[in-house]
Amino acid sequence: MNKDLTPRETGPFSYCLQHVDAGCGARRGIFSTPHGAVQMPAFMPVGTQATVKGLEVAQLRATGAEMILGNTYHLALRPGEDAIAALGGLHRFMGWTGPILTDSGGFQLFSLAHRVKITEQEAVFQSHIDGRLMAISPERAVAIQEALGSDVAMVLDHVIELPNDAEAVRDAAERTDQTLFAIVQGGLDTKLRADSARRLREMDFAGYAIGGLSVGESQEEMLRTIEAVVPELPADRPRYLMGVGRPEDLLESIGRGVDMFDCVMPTRNGRNAMAFTDLGPIRLRNLKFERDDRPIEAGCPCAACRRSRGYIRHLFMAREMLGPILLTIHNLTYYQRLMADAREAIEADRFEEFKLGKLRGWTGGEDTSPAEA
Ligand SMILES: [Zn+2]
Repeated sequence: MNKDLTPRETGPFSYCLQHVDAGCGARRGIFSTPHGAVQMPAFMPVGTQATVKGLEVAQLRATGAEMILGNTYHLALRPGEDAIAALGGLHRFMGWTGPILTDSGGFQLFSLAHRVKITEQEAVFQSHIDGRLMAISPERAVAIQEALGSDVAMVLDHVIELPNDAEAVRDAAERTDQTLFAIVQGGLDTKLRADSARRLREMDFAGYAIGGLSVGESQEEMLRTIEAVVPELPADRPRYLMGVGRPEDLLESIGRGVDMFDCVMPTRNGRNAMAFTDLGPIRLRNLKFERDDRPIEAGCPCAACRRSRGYIRHLFMAREMLGPILLTIHNLTYYQRLMADAREAIEADRFEEFKLGKLRGWTGGEDTSPAEA
């Protein structure tokens, strides 16, 4: 029997496609997990060290976030997955009761670790924290994520070459309380990407990520890659664009059928005094905000927007820790409201109109200078 016609049982994890916008490929859906449902399209704040920097989980929840991302590489090095397992798993450890996705560690392995050596079976590397020599394999990456107890684990994409390996890892990883997403690779080569997507689709994963983007390519190249991959993916599984990105990248990708995102941009930029608004980003350290009595964004329900721009500028100039906290809250709230508005627009078949309206505001804004690194 054709595998494609008989989707594998995915247990308590399911993606329910509710509506596709009549004017484009944008999808409205719900992803169910044992730790709750996630309205899609969805943005996942990044909690690298088992915390979204500066925020208590109640503040994080109040931004509208339903699902967050944890970094396997960082947590495996410190405090170690065994310590987290001994303290009840990642949810209990950090006090977040909603769904958590953990990455495989592959991206950090190649960007942070020293002396990475890859064989067919594993990658050997030196910890960037204490220089310890460690080894990671596709099986080990899944075992670490199992110990962490995340809802969604990711395959270690850089090492897997043979479909058989991927299938073995998938079967080992599928348990009742955790599921596994595959990662479509292939750089900017649209044919390689489509081939990778087709091959992984045949293996029938619970979800599919598009990896290896947001590494310096143009938006046009990124969107072309998405357009090559999405038609090859099954409609009844979530599609996750890893590490992206700017608000305009999110909307363009949603219009092409992507459901999930993660990115450090709202949190990292917030800590650097940059706030997202419908008129483009503003930099609160700028002198022109010294006596600005307006909130960052009129109508924003977040805690930062109950104060003036002048006050938040003062916090940054005085190096008060509340400044980065408030802008992190505002930026995450901005991203979550953008996703909520996108979902509403899809339901009403007016996503393109919504997207164009937002793009007009962002490009005609008052301060579009790039954020600090
Ligand atoms: Zn706000």
